[in-house]
Amino acid sequence: MALAIEGSGTGIWDRDVVTGKIRYSTGWLEILGYDRGEISQQIEDSYDRIHPDDLTYVQATMQDHFDGRTSVYEVEHRLRCKDGSYKWVMSRGMVISRDLQGRALRMVGTTADITSTRLMAERLRQSTNLVANLTNQIPGMIFESRRAPTGEARMTYVSSGIGEIFGLTAADVATSTASIHARIYPDDRAMYHASLDASQRDLVSWQCIFRVDLPTRGLCWRQIDARPARLPNGDTLWHGLVTDVTERMEMEQQLHDLARLDHLSGLPNRRAFLERMEKTWSGLVQARLDRVAVMMIDVDHFKSINDRYGHAAGDEVIRHVAAMMSSVLRSSDITGRMGGEEFAVCLPNVGMAEAGRIADRLRVEIAETQAWFEDIAISLTVSIGIAAMLPTDRNGEQVLARADKALYMAKQAGRNRLAFAQDSD
Ligand code: GH3
Ligand code: MG
Ligand code: MG
Repeated sequence: MALAIEGSGTGIWDRDVVTGKIRYSTGWLEILGYDRGEISQQIEDSYDRIHPDDLTYVQATMQDHFDGRTSVYEVEHRLRCKDGSYKWVMSRGMVISRDLQGRALRMVGTTADITSTRLMAERLRQSTNLVANLTNQIPGMIFESRRAPTGEARMTYVSSGIGEIFGLTAADVATSTASIHARIYPDDRAMYHASLDASQRDLVSWQCIFRVDLPTRGLCWRQIDARPARLPNGDTLWHGLVTDVTERMEMEQQLHDLARLDHLSGLPNRRAFLERMEKTWSGLVQARLDRVAVMMIDVDHFKSINDRYGHAAGDEVIRHVAAMMSSVLRSSDITGRMGGEEFAVCLPNVGMAEAGRIADRLRVEIAETQAWFEDIAISLTVSIGIAAMLPTDRNGEQVLARADKALYMAKQAGRNRLAFAQDSD
């Protein structure tokens, strides 16, 4: 047995507790680089070889075993070699005979060189620290996540950025990602899961921009970029980054809004109005809306206002009409400046009779309220053409032609009035 142990690079020692004499095997001497006869066999000298920082706990561990508090003696510590360098060893031993009072008489044990294992553990600890330090410094959240084919997922690594990004801790996501899903803005959850599922199914990059609702900050935008890999057991592993894109998304939204706004009147511009009208038309075709009324509004003799008071006064009149429209119409009504002194309104779920009442209220309001340019009060009137959007229309725009025809009729009939389109127009 001793030969087998020695062959595995482990040394053996045998200590007479009473005389304090300790004998070492050849393998034991080889670990520290000694030849036989070069080393004392006194226990006091053996303590001298133990690293000073380790001596106290080694002796305490030994005492615990002598006193019967442990069934084996087992301790990791450093031993000084012949050349003065230290090696990490694992010492294991056992009292094998005691006197009648239970005092230890003889103890045998082994010493194994664990320097390389300790070194590896130390390197591992260093590289783990390096990864944590690096990833914790990067703005955003670095992660490794794992998802089973059944959909159960957890974060196997997250940087400290999880606090900033999701208002969570690593412990919150170590066994399930449910707490992240709960933070996602409800409207964005389906899109988020669809992108995750596609990445898992096709092993394509997982890219997704979504909103989170955080307890301390409210709605924020987040972007995920991650690469998937399939594991032998069928699970999928992602490595990636989640960043805060709130500022960028809000800026894009502002630019988008700006591109759809008419700067003079503050109303949606022609393009934005037509887009919204197209959506309304889809609602009508799909029977989500049962009727839609559309008005075209045009200022009467606008050219003469320009001619008389100047272009800037004309601009003021345009702003005035937009303000009157906003005050008479509901915020859910779709309005737009179609160009020049022409405006349009789209009224979902409003019939012709009701649209006529709304249009006339607007017409009267405008006729009775003067626009002010500097200290000049300008009176003005509008003519309004009204048409019904039809489910048989080819698109949302077609109704505008009918409303325009009705407007022409109102102009022909003397202005400052309404006219209704015939459905067959
Ligand atoms: P009608 O009663 O038939 O509508 O007569 P009108 O003079 O209003 O019609 P017309 O289309 O002949 O005139 C529109 C004028 O609006 C022509 C153009 O110079 C002017 N215009 C177009 N856009 C603007 C603008 O942004 N500001 C100002 N001040 N004038 C504009
Ligand atoms: Mg006009
Ligand atoms: Mg006009």
